[in-house]
Amino acid sequence: MTILSHYIHLIAQLARDELVTPAPPPCPDRLAASPFERPNQMTHAYTGGCACGAIRYEIASEPVFQNHCQCRDCQRKSGTGHGSYLTFARAGVKHSGNATLWDMLGDSGNVKTRAFCPACGSPVYMTFAAMPEIFTVHAASLDDPGRYKPQVVTYAVRGYEWDFLDPGLQKFEKMPPM
Ligand SMILES: [Zn+2]
Ligand SMILES: [Zn+2]
Repeated sequence: MTILSHYIHLIAQLARDELVTPAPPPCPDRLAASPFERPNQMTHAYTGGCACGAIRYEIASEPVFQNHCQCRDCQRKSGTGHGSYLTFARAGVKHSGNATLWDMLGDSGNVKTRAFCPACGSPVYMTFAAMPEIFTVHAASLDDPGRYKPQVVTYAVRGYEWDFLDPGLQKFEKMPPM
């Protein structure tokens, strides 16, 4: 077997493994035909975590900001053209597991603390020394990433042509004024 055919075989194997992984249960709110059937579940918590499950979070409130960010830091840590985030008020955020914390100085001059899983490496959340009242999670760390509704693109000045995002989204060269 050549190296290439071995590689293709591996990919096919992985794809099959993916297919047999049971899908998560459907979101209860999506099953409800009308809000009157589930009067206490008009909203439900945003839950998520890392790929291996060691880091978990639960957030009861709705996000205050949702963005794609094309800054160099987000490119480096995502491994592609941008990061995708939901930002919440920190009050009411519960998280568990021992994330590895890594401080970095952002383009804005503010310290961002990235929290990622030391076991599986997934980036999960970020906090900001200058804005301790907010808590940001990576969109794909959500149990249901379909709940992410990007509003804007930040640091578009750093974006690459190959990283094509919804042209309907408002773009900011850097961060919008807060
Ligand atoms: Zn993990
Ligand atoms: Zn960024």
